[in-house]
Amino acid sequence: MKDYYDILGVPRNATTDDVKKAYRKLAHQYHPDKKGGDERRFKEINEAYQILSNDDKRSQYDRFGNAGAGGPEGGFGGFDFGNFGFDQMDVGDIFETVFGRGGFSASGGKRRGRDISIDIEIPFAESAFGTERRVLIRKRALCDECSGTGAEKGSALVTCVTCHGAGTLRDTRKSLFGTFTKMVECGTCSGKGKVPEKQCKTCKGETIIVKSEEVHIIVPAGIEDGEVIRISGKGEAAPNADMGDLYAKVHVLPHAVFKRLRHDLVMRFEVPLSTALVGSSEEIETLDGKIKVKIPQGVADGEVLKVAGKGIVRDDGGRGDLLIEVKIHMPKKITPALKSLIEELKREGF
Ligand SMILES: [Zn+2]
Ligand SMILES: [Zn+2]
Repeated sequence: MKDYYDILGVPRNATTDDVKKAYRKLAHQYHPDKKGGDERRFKEINEAYQILSNDDKRSQYDRFGNAGAGGPEGGFGGFDFGNFGFDQMDVGDIFETVFGRGGFSASGGKRRGRDISIDIEIPFAESAFGTERRVLIRKRALCDECSGTGAEKGSALVTCVTCHGAGTLRDTRKSLFGTFTKMVECGTCSGKGKVPEKQCKTCKGETIIVKSEEVHIIVPAGIEDGEVIRISGKGEAAPNADMGDLYAKVHVLPHAVFKRLRHDLVMRFEVPLSTALVGSSEEIETLDGKIKVKIPQGVADGEVLKVAGKGIVRDDGGRGDLLIEVKIHMPKKITPALKSLIEELKREGF
């Protein structure tokens, strides 16, 4: 039986968030429309995600599924077909053997335009609070002139002469397994059964043109470097097919001061030795602007001061914290005057 955790490459105690992230990454990587894609893996990844992203299904899977090595199998859709011979072979497999794959597939499923992948770069601060981008993408899109019908404005639709309006054609083939008949989509009318009397001049009746289209991408707050946003239906168009999707990979530019630790921000702040000894109030630049931070008297080198709620925006709308690591600057040179002052401190028990 399949191990859904293995498939997504997440530990058993992964949060729903982790599952979602792993899924997004893998789905992007193995998407069958992409170079290096893998339809079988893609289906597997989707199946794993359906189970692990749903609390009920996941707990059922954890209890009855293949939760641990050597555990009992079955109980969760665990069918064992054994070594089946030819007479149990899937009809769909034979169909694919005879007709080949693709096109008007026996397993159904509408065709889709191609997916598009793009990269966008955003500054660190925008990744913390969320942002948006408008990008121009040159792609195959529905013809504006005829709204994707392929017909000249006002032109009537007439019955397709190739398929006589059926939209499909019979394809009969003889094979070792017998004679198979399959209905295939009519190429003349793309399965619509009707064709325009006069073709659109802009797309020559193809319904599709290449053009630049502006796409609005909403980048959610708290996005991490390398995350991929899917914008459904904003990929390429294809004749008589659903639109493909747009995948935007987000690159977050590093910040000069802050490092990210989950939803917290980490920074170093150097203070002179005197500040460490007596404490002070310091102005510190945060993503929200300048704030006053109290450096406590007697602060140790490496001590971390926490400013609640000044970190990265979380999925629940809350904020992470700002963590300030204090570095104490030790004087390298000491003047004779300073030295006598320190001797005095020494006598006071410092
Ligand atoms: Zn057109
Ligand atoms: Zn036709």
